[in-house]
Amino acid sequence: MFWRLFSFVLFQGVAAGIGWYVAIPGGKVVAALVLALTGGYVWLLVDVSRGVRLLRWLRDEMANPVALGNGLWSEVSDRVRRMARARERLTAESENRLQDFLAALQASPNGVVLLDSEGRIEWFNQTAAFHFGFDAQRDMLQHLGNLVRDPVFAAYFAARDFSHDVTIPGRDDSSTKPVRLSVHLHPYGEGRSLLLSRDITAVEQAEAMRRDFVANVSHEIRTPLTVLAGFIETLQSLPLDDLERQRYLGLMAQQAQRMQTLVNDLLTLSRLEGSPLPSVHEWVPVRALLSQCEQDARDLSRLLSEQAHDLHFEMLGDCEIAGSSTELHSAMSNLIGNAIRYTPAGRRIDVSWTLQPGGGGIFSVRDTGPGIAPEHISRLTERFYRVDRSRSRDTGGTGLGLAIVKHVTQRHGAELLISSVPGKGSTFSITFPASRVRRTFSEPLAA
Ligand code: ADP
Repeated sequence: MFWRLFSFVLFQGVAAGIGWYVAIPGGKVVAALVLALTGGYVWLLVDVSRGVRLLRWLRDEMANPVALGNGLWSEVSDRVRRMARARERLTAESENRLQDFLAALQASPNGVVLLDSEGRIEWFNQTAAFHFGFDAQRDMLQHLGNLVRDPVFAAYFAARDFSHDVTIPGRDDSSTKPVRLSVHLHPYGEGRSLLLSRDITAVEQAEAMRRDFVANVSHEIRTPLTVLAGFIETLQSLPLDDLERQRYLGLMAQQAQRMQTLVNDLLTLSRLEGSPLPSVHEWVPVRALLSQCEQDARDLSRLLSEQAHDLHFEMLGDCEIAGSSTELHSAMSNLIGNAIRYTPAGRRIDVSWTLQPGGGGIFSVRDTGPGIAPEHISRLTERFYRVDRSRSRDTGGTGLGLAIVKHVTQRHGAELLISSVPGKGSTFSITFPASRVRRTFSEPLAA
């Protein structure tokens, strides 16, 4: 400011000096005054033209550089330029931060939809697009109520009570493959809201399975308990002779045994679910497993009927399986036990171990029992699933055997295959991968 005042006074002073020296007829004083005034106007003209150039530069949004020399206008332009640069930096930082936020929301496993105060969609992530079938081009700024038309959600959206979530079917929901979404709206800012969606299909299924499991276990335990209670009451209230007494006690022992088997199977299942995967360094000889299974099978066959089954055990390729011997024995003896329990006495049952050319091994149990209709096969490994409930119970089945077998095979990286022809028989086989099987002898393959 000082320089500006100084330059103005200097300009007028110099002009007045020139007037004084060049002197005109009117006298030195008049000439000095006239030239000082003229000098002042010229100074003002130059100054205003600089101001106008600065204004034009600002109107053009500082597109082209402007030369304003030194002084006030150039300082103004410098300061404006610096402020603009600082503002641009701030805007870029805010933009980066916004992009980071949106990227974080995009990475969220939950669906996120941002709504304006009118309930129109301002932004959504890919999970939300997948949950509701939104299209980024088509549905931006559309009213949410027009796109999510489920009646439960419509009522929730209209009631504006967002203290809780609602469960609605997902876009791909069908009777064979249900998809359930938990949807929750959270108001924020001035009338805006954030909608979060979460796929809860697996949680609901697990909860339903848990409920079914508890109901099944209760039912399985209640039946023998009721029978036991009945026998106890009979023993207490009726005067029975020794023979009758022995018969009742025998029946009671059978029911107690049934409960014990059920509890043992339940414990086996829970151990399989809760324990670490079987070691890949512990090698179990298949020959020892098979001979133990053969002994159990012959005992069971004799126990179930007077005429034993026609049992054949064959081992092609002596080798070892990496894993847990207890679990492997449990799976193999469950399959053999089923074959014995469901195949009529005296009929043939083949149990075999075969090495595959590629290095893996197959344990297989083939029976000549009633077979299983195709519609049941995919469900056999579900807990408590039985084709013939009374036959299963009569032979001491718990409905958990194949569930145990499936767990054991999965834990050993193996695969359970079931094939059956109703009326002819069934074959249950476990295929072990090459990584879990090793040969122990190079000589004869036949056992
Ligand atoms: P269970 O204790 O009832 O035998 P499992 O889980 O071992 O339970 O088997 C499930 C059902 O599969 C059985 O109830 C039976 O209906 C059927 N099943 C299993 N093995 C055989 C088989 N070898 N032949 C015919 N049906 C079988």
